Amino acid sequence: MHLLADFEISFPPDEDGVDSWKDEREDYYQSCQAEFQNIISFTAQANELALKSRVCEVSPYLLILGNEPKFKITQEDLDFTDFRTIDAVDLPAVVNTVSNNRLPIEFHQRYSKIRKLRNRIIHQGAAGIGFKPNELILLLTAQYADLWPQKRFLNDWFEYISSTRFSFFHDGKWSSAGMELVEMLDVFFSALTSSQIESLTGYPKNKRRYVCLRCFSDEAIENAGGHPSSFRTAYLLNQTTLHCHLCDEQFAVNRLDCPEDDCKGNVLGTTEQHQGVCHTCGLP
Ligand SMILES: [Zn+2]
Ligand SMILES: [Zn+2]
Repeated sequence: MHLLADFEISFPPDEDGVDSWKDEREDYYQSCQAEFQNIISFTAQANELALKSRVCEVSPYLLILGNEPKFKITQEDLDFTDFRTIDAVDLPAVVNTVSNNRLPIEFHQRYSKIRKLRNRIIHQGAAGIGFKPNELILLLTAQYADLWPQKRFLNDWFEYISSTRFSFFHDGKWSSAGMELVEMLDVFFSALTSSQIESLTGYPKNKRRYVCLRCFSDEAIENAGGHPSSFRTAYLLNQTTLHCHLCDEQFAVNRLDCPEDDCKGNVLGTTEQHQGVCHTCGLP
């Protein structure tokens, strides 16, 4: 998302929404190939660890299945992490045999595809194909949705941003994880298809989103010049409860029309700090 957002920020669409940067975008994606390859390598590693964790849930000793260690009578202490573990290629079959938490065959087919690409990148220095962002999004979204069906992607993404090296600079006033996210959120909701968004968040693309007033203020989005409409991370659970996918909090709301003339919002805050503040335009 960061790679995509970098381009969209420098080459925004025309006022009338026409995209006149198609050639430039293609050129940019060409120069992203090394990073796309890194993404595939990390995805392969992440998928492998996720499968190993499912095996571990049953018993960590299953991880050394088929790689019998040789013991000596004079053996010094052995460290479990030094044992050779199951080959990546065998992991899908082991997971679907020993775990109650089986993964669909399509997951394993994509896992195999990613693993082969990674091997080419590692052993030959290049994947031998040009990666397209849409194809990567399709692959990564499907893998994530199968591994983590709880649909907490925004919260996971937020936690990830809060733990990168840049998080060292998050002072909560002029720099924050939310400020990093706000630059990518629009790209996320426009680049992914409705079914992809639904598989990650539980809601289709056109489901109305609202501002979480707490996250908006805690992340100091205003200090970065961000408008509440650019940071909508909450969905209505029912008529009077809003659930923010970033902070995972639920807030009671009043269903009254926003007093602002040009705002059609009808979801107002009820907390002490945000009593009567509109969850659509952010104005009191
Ligand atoms: Zn929130
Ligand atoms: Zn409003």
